[in-house]
Amino acid sequence: MLSFVLKRIKNSLPPLRFFNTLSAAVEQFVPLSSPVRMYNCGPTVYDHAHVGNLRSYIFADTIRRALLAWGFKVRQVINITDFGHLTSDADEGEDKMSKGLRREGLTISMTNMRVLADTYTRAFIDDIEILGLDVRHILFPRASEYVLQQIDLVKKLQDKGYAYKTQDGIYFDTHKFSGYGALGRIDLSGQEAGARVSTAGKRNPQDFALWKFSARGGSASGGDHMGWESPWGRGFPGWHIECTAMVFALLGQQIDIHTGGVDHIPVHHNNEIAQAQALTGEQYVKYWMHNEFANLYSGRIGKSEGNAITLKDVVARGIHPVSLRYFYLTGHYRTPMTFSWEALQAAEAAMMRLARAYRSARSRPAQPDILKKFYAAIADDLNTAKALGIVWENIGSLNRTTLDQVDDVLGLGLKEIAKHAPQPLRRDELPEEVRRFVAEREIARGARDFPRADALRLQIEKAGYTLKDTPEGPEITRK
Ligand code: AMP
Ligand code: ZN
Repeated sequence: MLSFVLKRIKNSLPPLRFFNTLSAAVEQFVPLSSPVRMYNCGPTVYDHAHVGNLRSYIFADTIRRALLAWGFKVRQVINITDFGHLTSDADEGEDKMSKGLRREGLTISMTNMRVLADTYTRAFIDDIEILGLDVRHILFPRASEYVLQQIDLVKKLQDKGYAYKTQDGIYFDTHKFSGYGALGRIDLSGQEAGARVSTAGKRNPQDFALWKFSARGGSASGGDHMGWESPWGRGFPGWHIECTAMVFALLGQQIDIHTGGVDHIPVHHNNEIAQAQALTGEQYVKYWMHNEFANLYSGRIGKSEGNAITLKDVVARGIHPVSLRYFYLTGHYRTPMTFSWEALQAAEAAMMRLARAYRSARSRPAQPDILKKFYAAIADDLNTAKALGIVWENIGSLNRTTLDQVDDVLGLGLKEIAKHAPQPLRRDELPEEVRRFVAEREIARGARDFPRADALRLQIEKAGYTLKDTPEGPEITRK
């Protein structure tokens, strides 16, 4: 039950405003109808998601949580790409699922592809659930379950004269779709100049595969025993058509929100618009929203770069996995962020302080003005960084009900974390010996003698304590 004060705030929320990649402007969010229909481009399940990928779903969840806080109902779909999808968006390179099979020492077959997909679909859904997504209320369609729908769309595009056949597949003729490349205002002349027209028979560099034939003898799609029967023989749907088919099947021909990382703007999402609007003649998506990348100091996070840090790696370092969510919330979703272990540890320390503040915030008066400011920051294109700043500025005076409302949007699960958040010990609460280890470790770290610092950490652990470095110095808790 919301209190009277809270109800009043909820009834006078400022309008939600989102940056729409289509108009390149921040617009007021006005849904097409109820429920709001949102599609988030999902993972290719050939490996664990890396921390960069996960930013994309934390972002999608922030949109959902904001919509719910504003009183909208939401129907949300995250698709699972469980076949094909070449390593390059431009229909070239290696098939990611075949790459996954080879890595795991499995022969390339449709059955093994399903086994691989099942493993990593489960891992993906576990990861995002740990990160605070309400997976019971999200639909996770698998592309392989929508092949008939994809074939049907390709046939319709052919009937309407948008598709043509080449040696290796059925392609969409982008020159037939006026306004191709409008999303993100893509510079097509640049693409034309730089393009290698390596796919035999393509009419224009931007044309993309709607259907790929299973080539004989070890092609990108793994040989002629792979794929599905179609009017064009055995093969695979192109990557872009799967999203449009699942959007149409589960959400309808016109939807409110479609998301993905910024890498999807130039090719994947422009292709989706071209296919969908060629089919229906109507606007496909009202608000296109894209998250910026998370990178490492050394560059891209990527499987091919060999530095794909996963949520398992976070947990293996003894860091609370939700710290990753907290970390991403400290930046605006349209700002690139640099992932580092130090930044993640600092995020964990801050989140634990927030959880402890939650614990001690029981009986204080409500602070409607602060909550209003928090909502205003969220309404301003999901400015979670500013919203968190408002929470921290006022942390001493927020009560639990207010923090519950805040956490409904942030999705950290503060209530649960607060139950287990260890209470850091004051130095005078530590045994003399442990106090000495901590002090000596600080000296060793100051002198950059890390082997000695690590040895001292072990001593501290042996004595039954856990040490965490935070920006305010080491924090010691009982194990
Ligand atoms: P993929 O499995 O490669 O299709 O990626 C899944 C989602 O993660 C897509 O929405 C990508 O745009 C997004 N993504 C990939 N790498 C990153 C990154 N380093 N930072 C943020 N989002 C990313
Ligand atoms: Zn997609």
